[in-house]
Amino acid sequence: MKIDLHAHSNVSDGTETPTDVMASAARAGLDVVALTDHDSTDGWAEASLAAVREGIALVPGIEISCRTEQGISVHLLSYLHDPTHPGLLEEITKSKDARLTRAERMVSLLAEDYPLTWDDVIHHVAPGATMGRPHIADALVAAGVVSDRTEAFASILTSHSRYWVQHYAPEPALAVELVRAAGGVPVFAHPVASSRGRVVGDKTYQEMIDAGLAGLEIDHRDNPEEGRKFLRKLAARHNLLITGSSDYHGTGKVNLLGENTTDPEVFARIVAMGTGSRVVR
Ligand code: AMP
Ligand code: FE
Ligand code: ZN
Ligand code: FE
Repeated sequence: MKIDLHAHSNVSDGTETPTDVMASAARAGLDVVALTDHDSTDGWAEASLAAVREGIALVPGIEISCRTEQGISVHLLSYLHDPTHPGLLEEITKSKDARLTRAERMVSLLAEDYPLTWDDVIHHVAPGATMGRPHIADALVAAGVVSDRTEAFASILTSHSRYWVQHYAPEPALAVELVRAAGGVPVFAHPVASSRGRVVGDKTYQEMIDAGLAGLEIDHRDNPEEGRKFLRKLAARHNLLITGSSDYHGTGKVNLLGENTTDPEVFARIVAMGTGSRVVR
């Protein structure tokens, strides 16, 4: 069984439709794939139809943007939650709306120095999709300012850049609590991905664990080996599940479906724990 529990479609910052992500997952030889778009479950219905057609199992999921009070970004994966749970929906909607205002601010700052308009950026966002820096990157590529998303993130769009603007995001422990309340399985995405920015310390792990954190995404290309050792110890100490995933974004990132996978026994425990929605087969 080949299981990949982290993939994005153009419902957020992936480049493929949910239908195409399911087709790509089947072609990559996966038996199970989770669709985990940033702050949106809008892709679930389309992906479900495609998963059945492709003969692959779909785990409905989401990746929730969070921020600690110290301003450190945390991504929380949730699997099998109820997408209509009011408390969770409210937080996700707040983040998603704030992302739009934030992108407008970033684009107006960028427009002072680069040939870029809001229309140029919107052109790269599917209707209703969760807006993110990758869409701004796509417009910068189209304008010939950078050659790809990676170059944009390494320069103009880093969190240290003068064009970077913050957006509302819930605290990680609140998000964990809401995912649990919605019957979902909360897993901390790429916890030690230091190339993305500052990573959290003991206090945040403890708060998330106390709130009901179920697992750690350890096998992810952005987690350096030293950090993985720390995470494995933490998982053993607190009886947390260990997952491995690709974080596929279509052609938006080099990450390939199935480059990291999750153990079937761990997957079985996730399925047993998730009560808000079902695996689609
Ligand atoms: P945002 O959530 O809008 O701040 O943008 C962060 C998103 O950009 C993350 O979800 C990543 O998927 C994506 N991202 C980060 N670094 C890169 C990169 N080097 N190349 C492509 N996408 C990236
Ligand atoms: Fe992303
Ligand atoms: Zn992430
Ligand atoms: Fe992701």
